[in-house]
Amino acid sequence: MTIKAEYIWIDGTEPTPLLRSKTKILTQATDLPIWGFDGSSTNQAPGKASDCVLNPVFSCPDPIRGGANVLVLAEVLLTDFSAHPTNTRSALVDVVDKYAGQESLFGIEQEYTLFKGSRPLGFPEHTGYPGPQGPYYCGVGSDDIYGRPLVEAHLDACLTAGLAISGINAEVMPGQWEFQVGPVGPLEVSDQLWIARWLLHRLGEDLGISVTLDPKPVRGDWNGAGCHTNFSTKAMREGYDAVITAAEALGKNPAEHVAGYGHGIEDRLTGQHETAHYTEFSYGVSDRGASVRIPWQVAADGKGYIEDRRPNANMDPYVVTKLIVNTCCGALA
Ligand code: ADP
Ligand code: MN
Ligand code: MN
Ligand code: MN
Repeated sequence: MTIKAEYIWIDGTEPTPLLRSKTKILTQATDLPIWGFDGSSTNQAPGKASDCVLNPVFSCPDPIRGGANVLVLAEVLLTDFSAHPTNTRSALVDVVDKYAGQESLFGIEQEYTLFKGSRPLGFPEHTGYPGPQGPYYCGVGSDDIYGRPLVEAHLDACLTAGLAISGINAEVMPGQWEFQVGPVGPLEVSDQLWIARWLLHRLGEDLGISVTLDPKPVRGDWNGAGCHTNFSTKAMREGYDAVITAAEALGKNPAEHVAGYGHGIEDRLTGQHETAHYTEFSYGVSDRGASVRIPWQVAADGKGYIEDRRPNANMDPYVVTKLIVNTCCGALA
């Protein structure tokens, strides 16, 4: 029997990398081999020395092809098997090992915007705007909701793939949606988020809908798209002091965090549309205008997790979870 293995990797496009994939036919899926690709076509190598290596790090059932077919997330290596400069996963592995004893968990809320041609779904085809924001968030009905067939197909695909997807909702701007992955560990949430993003782009092909993770897809009085990153350690899940220590720690180096939270963050973290300004740091219970929110339930229970609201929709979860683990676990150690 033959198996189609879709090898998926993150390329070297700047400032925000793209997903790439290609298919390898295997006779069995127990041992996924390393593979290669032309790095000169993905901004990862010069033409004269173009070979890059794909090293499988995560695989799951392929919900689109079905059967025994698989999706394979691969990290990119140089031909000496060291990490490629675009491989942000390998640096996360070191930090995860260092703080493994703290048992970090992440739940990531991926917001995204659906487009048909050059306009978001729900926007008039050529010019003008839909009615102002208000009825769209978690709405129902064809006046307010656009793209649900793709969103539902994506949810089913993530579940069939065995990803830790934990929910979906329509967002504040028409054509904008969110799915959540987690809570699971930093490597798991990041690998699964990349696969879930790939599935969304891929399923969009079948419906003629394109997906963008642009953090500010429409200028003006329209919400941007973020990737709120919820975080806890064992100590935070057991007591409130650790929750406060983690929130305070994030206030020590906000510029370093914001710099790693996705290109174009200055356009999104304006201090409006449920964001705190990117130059300021604040945290608060229930506060959706703060950089970091402590959910009311966490304050009530005296334990739980914090939500870093700053990461952009286009962030790299390997970079974001590494920054948060380093900062918060460092402070809690
Ligand atoms: P909201 O939209 O109100 O900010 P969501 O329900 O969209 O919240 O997302 C909450 C996220 O918090 C989910 O992804 C969930 O997995 C995550 N989460 C819940 N408990 C924890 C925890 N202990 N540690 C880390 N993340 C958590
Ligand atoms: Mn949410
Ligand atoms: Mn949201
Ligand atoms: Mn949130």
